[in-house]
Amino acid sequence: MEHSIDFIGPQLRARTPERLALYAGVQINGAPHLGTNVMQTAAFLLARAARERFGTPAVVRFGALDNTAYETRRCPATGTLYELSYHHALGPDRVAELVERFYGGLFDALSAATGVPYEVETYTRQQRSRTFREELAASLIRREQLRWVLAPSHGRVPVSFPCPRCGWLQKYGEHTELLSLDSDGARFAAVCLDHGRYVAEAGPGTDAWVGLTTLHRNLVKERVAARDAAMPVIVKGADWAPGCRLVDEAFSYYPDAAAPPRVFTPVILSESGAKLSKTLIREGAAQLSPGTRPWMLDTTAWPGPAGDYAHLLHELVSGMLSEPRHFERGYTTLEVARLVREYGSGTDRDRPPGTSLTGGVPE
Ligand SMILES: [Zn+2]
Repeated sequence: MEHSIDFIGPQLRARTPERLALYAGVQINGAPHLGTNVMQTAAFLLARAARERFGTPAVVRFGALDNTAYETRRCPATGTLYELSYHHALGPDRVAELVERFYGGLFDALSAATGVPYEVETYTRQQRSRTFREELAASLIRREQLRWVLAPSHGRVPVSFPCPRCGWLQKYGEHTELLSLDSDGARFAAVCLDHGRYVAEAGPGTDAWVGLTTLHRNLVKERVAARDAAMPVIVKGADWAPGCRLVDEAFSYYPDAAAPPRVFTPVILSESGAKLSKTLIREGAAQLSPGTRPWMLDTTAWPGPAGDYAHLLHELVSGMLSEPRHFERGYTTLEVARLVREYGSGTDRDRPPGTSLTGGVPE
């Protein structure tokens, strides 16, 4: 391996596509931490590397996960968990505002720096496409084969639907029942905590919002991406690599079984080696080394101009991508702080003379 983008080489040479689409995620549940931005920056840099190395133009497609829980409730009688998604709590306009506030400036700067265009699509909007509905139906038709792959511990793969009156859905679908299923459609019955029983249609041509487990959602999304005219490349943090073994196994139950190539990006770690995550940060459980800066945990706390932050990420992730051994590994916040000091002290040769990061290492 000479370059991490070479992971896509085999399929690219076999398919000779006219275009590539790199798929990456956008979390909307609160301000992003550095790890999320590293993955997103890598998507832009990998797209540029693909263009330069293989001569194939590439776009980055960010999927905004507006299905994340905004609020949860428990039924006092049965103990089952109900969830209200960001989409149902805020609506599409405020979700778009969140994406713009947390990511707009960074994505525009990285797009300008790399010449790679990007698109943002919410999971809600993606769900409405006909190919998504067809692939969802295809997965439901194979549910007996897939259920132990998508839920190896218990074999339960709940599909849940929000109540048409209030938008709450039963997270684990305990009382969701499949009424009928064929290639044209799927009908489910579900129960709302406040409004009782309702029926939802999920087949092609319908637009009911649907809640899937993480593995099931990723399988359907990768199946949809594989049907795109542009060759898909999945870009995700390396912590998702174990999950992909199961997605690959799920693919093997389909006649056209090739899963898209995936590139895994470096994970940012706390001192203990645990992945920097919103949950850890929120709970104050992240064991952080002394060099950790507030902006590494909440990138909106970056003290300087947004352009400087984008430039820093560009430098940082370019360094990681300079050799596969620097990319196929994790970085503690302490190591990131050391690298930032290095870039801030002017050792980066690409920086135009006379410019510097605001304050070198922001406190
Ligand atoms: Zn309801």
